[in-house]
Amino acid sequence: MIFPWQAADWSRLQQLRGHWPHALLLHGQAGIGKLRFVQHLAQGLLCEAQQANGEPCGACEACIWFAQGNHPDYRIVVPEALAAEAGVAGGADEKAEKADGDEGKKTRAPSKEIKIEQIRGLLDFVGVGSHRGGARVVVLYPAEALNIAAANALLRTLEEPSAGVVFLMVSARIDRLLPTIISRCRQWPMTMPAPELTTKWLTAQGVDQTVALLAEAGGAPLVALALASDENRALRDWTLKQLAAGPECDAFACGEALQKLPVPLVLGWLQRWMYDLLAQRTAGAPRYFPQASAAFTRCASQADASAFARFMRTVTRQRAVENHPLNVRLVFEELFIGYRALFA
Ligand SMILES: [Zn+2]
Repeated sequence: MIFPWQAADWSRLQQLRGHWPHALLLHGQAGIGKLRFVQHLAQGLLCEAQQANGEPCGACEACIWFAQGNHPDYRIVVPEALAAEAGVAGGADEKAEKADGDEGKKTRAPSKEIKIEQIRGLLDFVGVGSHRGGARVVVLYPAEALNIAAANALLRTLEEPSAGVVFLMVSARIDRLLPTIISRCRQWPMTMPAPELTTKWLTAQGVDQTVALLAEAGGAPLVALALASDENRALRDWTLKQLAAGPECDAFACGEALQKLPVPLVLGWLQRWMYDLLAQRTAGAPRYFPQASAAFTRCASQADASAFARFMRTVTRQRAVENHPLNVRLVFEELFIGYRALFA
């Protein structure tokens, strides 16, 4: 099933039936359920007893195969690191590694890229005819994970489309795709969920403080849901208090308290806090942490505007190397010292 806020996108997409594009690029903010949507769309294209409005029936042979993950006319291509999220079995690399035996060597981190081997693996699928006489469907998720070699290999397939093959590409970062790929796809911007639908849905999932969580999640309901059950929520609230203290922020306590946390997580808090500080200065209202409005007013009036921009650049630079910090505690100490200096 798709999410309740996707019904309008679903209906509008069904109007493409009859002249379905060879490649469709669904794009939109992270955390709004694009993966589930595209999987449902794929099932709808493969279903052999479609319901009204393109809904898959859920009961025909094709639907049962799809649910079991072995429809012969369906492929989903994801980075190894997202295999579990997308509900697909581990890639070829994983099997090879198991065959090598996993004793004595450190397991390498699963790849976050879609590799050229994965795209090459599609060529046979695209080259042979349909098993069931209907469409063949390929989902690529997320398209921005294609590395350069893989993107170029895919491009050749998109340039010479095989009859009956439908590519469904999904992206949260369309700005990272090759323009040549984008130009060969029909673009489909996914609608941002309406707050009244998402708060209702979150409440039904047993989440409280839905408004504050949705604000922090930038309106993305699946991000809000993850935040609600975030085991680091207490530390996050503590960190926000430190940031709210402005010139009194205890940088060394931050380094000590946060050193066990993933760097990207803390940088994300800091970035959103800084965004809100700027928003307070320019627009008069924070976006992510509306509950801290008073702190933003106070901090914004104390901080030096030019130092602001410099510090934002420092945070952005840290994000570029966030996965390989030499000393996490030191990284955090320096960042929070830099933050405190804004108010000097
Ligand atoms: Zn069906």
